[in-house]
Amino acid sequence: MNNFLKMLPPISENERGELYSLTSEQLLKVKKLIRKECCNFNAELGECFLLNGGRGCVCPQMISNHIICRWFNHAVLPQDPSLYVDVIKDTECKRCVVCGTAIFPRGNKTKYCPKCRKKVWRKQRTEWQRKYRSVVEK
Ligand SMILES: [Zn+2]
Repeated sequence: MNNFLKMLPPISENERGELYSLTSEQLLKVKKLIRKECCNFNAELGECFLLNGGRGCVCPQMISNHIICRWFNHAVLPQDPSLYVDVIKDTECKRCVVCGTAIFPRGNKTKYCPKCRKKVWRKQRTEWQRKYRSVVEK
């Protein structure tokens, strides 16, 4: 493997230690993304510049239904956050517990997307005020 690729973290795996698989729909998006964003992809030949000692060989990520390329995994896929979250469903990318929108939490406590967080806060405040009032008016 190219030294350059060795510098990247290992391929992402799910909790069972398996590679992330792609549905046929995701695979189409992956191929598009490689063509558009992968700087190691030779679109004319469909080859990878990095593999086979730089002599080029068919891009393995283009023909696999699993995430198998480190470069794609860590450098290309994150450029499409919604696809990233769709494919790699780990703790790095949580979903809002209310509406299911993908969120990139800044802390472990993040549970809601910004929209729902506002709604939840407002509701909690109203409830708190109601409780407070009921205690005070007794
Ligand atoms: Zn939400």
